[in-house]
Amino acid sequence: MPSTPLMQLALPHVAVLHAYTPGLQPTEPGWVKLNTNECPYPPSPRVAEALREEIGADGASLRLYPNPKSSPLRAAVAKLHGLTEENVCIGNGSDDILNLLVRIFCDTVRSSRPLGPAPTNRAVDANFITGQETRATAGFMFPSYSLYPVLVGIQDGRSAVIEFDRTMRLPLDRIAASAAQVFFLTSPNAPTGVAFPNADLESILKSFRGVLVVDEAYVLFAQENAVPLLARYPNLVIVRTLSKAYALAGIRVGYALAQPELIGLLDCVRDSYNVNRLSQSAALAALGDADYYDAMLAKVKATRDTSLAQFAEKRGWFTYPSQANFIFTEPKNTRGESGPAVARAAYDFLCTRKVLVRHFPSHALTASFLRITVGTDGEMSALNESLDAWLKTPLA
Ligand code: PMP
Repeated sequence: MPSTPLMQLALPHVAVLHAYTPGLQPTEPGWVKLNTNECPYPPSPRVAEALREEIGADGASLRLYPNPKSSPLRAAVAKLHGLTEENVCIGNGSDDILNLLVRIFCDTVRSSRPLGPAPTNRAVDANFITGQETRATAGFMFPSYSLYPVLVGIQDGRSAVIEFDRTMRLPLDRIAASAAQVFFLTSPNAPTGVAFPNADLESILKSFRGVLVVDEAYVLFAQENAVPLLARYPNLVIVRTLSKAYALAGIRVGYALAQPELIGLLDCVRDSYNVNRLSQSAALAALGDADYYDAMLAKVKATRDTSLAQFAEKRGWFTYPSQANFIFTEPKNTRGESGPAVARAAYDFLCTRKVLVRHFPSHALTASFLRITVGTDGEMSALNESLDAWLKTPLA
């Protein structure tokens, strides 16, 4: 074969893509790891049992493909939510489901077709084109989960980005008026932890003409969820994950809840065996141990509320009210100053003490904050001791 530069063979929009940047996963031991919102506690002991059983003495079951529809797991998820199997699609992590939703609803720029009048909302990114020729294909808030723009980029779609202001309140009318075919809303939001009530979601759903995806990755740490809205809104999809509240980030299981027509679309575009045997068994075992998880969630929420009070009241740092398993707080130095440089200094100091949190320096709404995953009480003490030590350094 003659040598052809790979970049010329790749589709033009792929050749210029930037991959999603995951949080650091240090390989050496000793880190207090509070950077990727994993659960600090192990999953239910039933998970390891189920995995051992699935593998058996010789791993013979692994010769066989898994259940293609993850049917037993669909049934368990449906039962959990008082729905039917037709309302559920299982994914290889919720990222898989988000990716499928983009494949289904997000036009490529070239094939974008007019589906309605020009949008009235202009609070969108530079790529946004109004009028009848092209339209935004996927919308989302900023800041929220940074995978959405990456997925839209892979599809060669056009994003409508609506920025929060510092209050982090949802601009309901702007979302409802968005011309996007699909709008991704994270609730509770990441990285802020702020949750949006069903009344807000319903007000969007009543007038939004596209599909509203409510990404409820962190909802088990929150007070309310959108499941009660599903029966009334065929354009609502709820996306959940077992990575956070079920302590199974390593097993990669997530799911979508929606009306059957939408689930049918997901089933058309997903890989036929998208969830492996071990993951299906582990997830089933986890969902079957509600008592274990109720206790664990109560513990994480209690630690979160104590830590939040420490940041907000004891340290006097501006901190958003969190309904997730992380806290978004704005560090202040000894002179009472905050800002991107202060947040960076705190982040760097914590790294020197092997405490890993997350800093998002690239935007004014996030750059002066740190996102801190709720860990065990011991991990939160280690974090607080390190922050106290930072405040004693001459530069802080
Ligand atoms: N949605 C949000 C808002 C997230 O923060 C994450 C985790 N990074 C995901 C979805 C993806 O979760 P999963 O591990 O199920 O792919």
